[in-house]
Order: sequence, then structure tokens, then C-alpha cells
Amino acid sequence: MKRICKKCGEEKEIEEFRKVKMCYYGRGWCCCVCINENGRNWYKVLPDKKKKELLNTQSKNTAKYRKTHKGKTTTAKRTKFNVDSLSDEYIKRLLANRPELSYSDISPQIIELKRVQIKFHRELIKGKEVLNEIHNNM
Ligand SMILES: [Zn+2]
Repeated sequence: MKRICKKCGEEKEIEEFRKVKMCYYGRGWCCCVCINENGRNWYKVLPDKKKKELLNTQSKNTAKYRKTHKGKTTTAKRTKFNVDSLSDEYIKRLLANRPELSYSDISPQIIELKRVQIKFHRELIKGKEVLNEIHNNM
């Protein structure tokens, strides 16, 4: 069975139309391609006034969010803090990722060793970056 898409005017198999219970034969009047196209362009086809409205509500919501969450540390911030400061918890988690170590095996000495290793590794990366910069500037 075929149906002509109301939007692009092409005749297509009924399967290519999105399922809409209310419609005739349980399929919508626009083919999936057109509906997807619509979905992608919905913002572009909006009148400028509507766009402004949308942007306004968006920025309002952002401001509201910032206000209510002011001063609270987000998970991302906390993670970054843990990573930067090489907290015990962060190192423990890193170590626990290894199959040969379980959480209970991790002693303070191991954590300390791992911390030194990470610090050394980070210095190494920094050193490499500096070398690269020098190399690029030559
Ligand atoms: Zn179509």
C-alpha cells in the first residue's frame, strides 16, 4: 500500500510513514523523512519573536539555576578537586580499578606510593608539553 506524503508530495510505502493512531490506517500524513527534517529545522523556522522568547526563558532558567545552586559544589567540581588534590578517595578509586587489587587491599602506603607515581607522571606530561611548545616555537 502506498500513500502520498503531504509535505514532499512523494508517493511512498505506508511503512515509511510514522505511526499515528488517530490517522487513517494508523499512519501519519507526512513521511518519516519529512518529519525528521521538520524536527531538525524546528528552531530555524521559528519566527524571530518566538526565538527571542525561547532564549529569554532559557537564560532565565539558567539564572534561576545558578541562584539556587550558588555556593554548592557540583559533582564535577568535587571530582576535579579530588583529581587535582590527589585525595585518598580518588587514588583509592583508581587503584580499585585494577583487577589484582581489591578495595580492602589498599593500604595507606600503597595510596602514598600511587600518589607519588601520579605526581611524577603529571610532571612528566607537563615537561613534555613544555618541550613541545619550545619545539613548536623554533
Ligand atoms: Zn515526505
